Amino acid sequence: MIGLLDVYRSKLMGLLPYFDWYPCDAHSPKWWGGLESPEEVAITAVLVQQTRWENVKKAYENLRLARLNNFVAIKKSSANFIKNCIRSVGMNASKSKKLKGLADAVVKNGGWERFINRDLEKVRADLLGVNGIGYETADSILLFAGNHLIFPASRLVARVLERVGFSVPKGYEAFRRFIESGLPRNLFDYKLFYASSLVITKVACRSSDPECSKCPLSDACYKFL
Ligand code: SF4
Repeated sequence: MIGLLDVYRSKLMGLLPYFDWYPCDAHSPKWWGGLESPEEVAITAVLVQQTRWENVKKAYENLRLARLNNFVAIKKSSANFIKNCIRSVGMNASKSKKLKGLADAVVKNGGWERFINRDLEKVRADLLGVNGIGYETADSILLFAGNHLIFPASRLVARVLERVGFSVPKGYEAFRRFIESGLPRNLFDYKLFYASSLVITKVACRSSDPECSKCPLSDACYKFL
């Protein structure tokens, strides 16, 4: 996996901003869509489930205008009002409930800073305890909003690894541990590997008809060679 990471470092860094990923300081929230607030990263991690980032942008601009870009405000607001703000993301009624559930967990633990800056396993358990927040969303929040060293083991990342030639374990947790065992244990490389893999699936390694001739990984890819 280090070989892939080297390709990502040398060929993908400049491409990522075109897809709303911004490589920068390892601890910055800006990796995720250029957002400056970790709470906005967490909120948009829920909003982006099963939709495109372009739709999320409209929703969080509405939340910002309504001053609902933090969990204390979301906790105080009505699910119906939030639902109307995030209409652009689809499944807005259920995502509104998820945001309310996440806000409950955050406020119950004393606010965002106290909530996120706890032991990784405790935060993860609380995130997974929110109805509708699964492993990948929880781990995206932990890594990109909380700077916890855990890899969001997306099926999109698995697609790239399988095609490149890795034998990828089945099941989320087994796959997560597999990736983590192959990467240097630091935030920058975790974030870069995740963002770059997702971009590869957009520019070339689509689910059907991958465009291998355009792919930055073609020199290293088992499927292409
Ligand atoms: S070379 Fe083709 S199969 Fe391999 S990662 Fe790139 S697009 Fe996917």
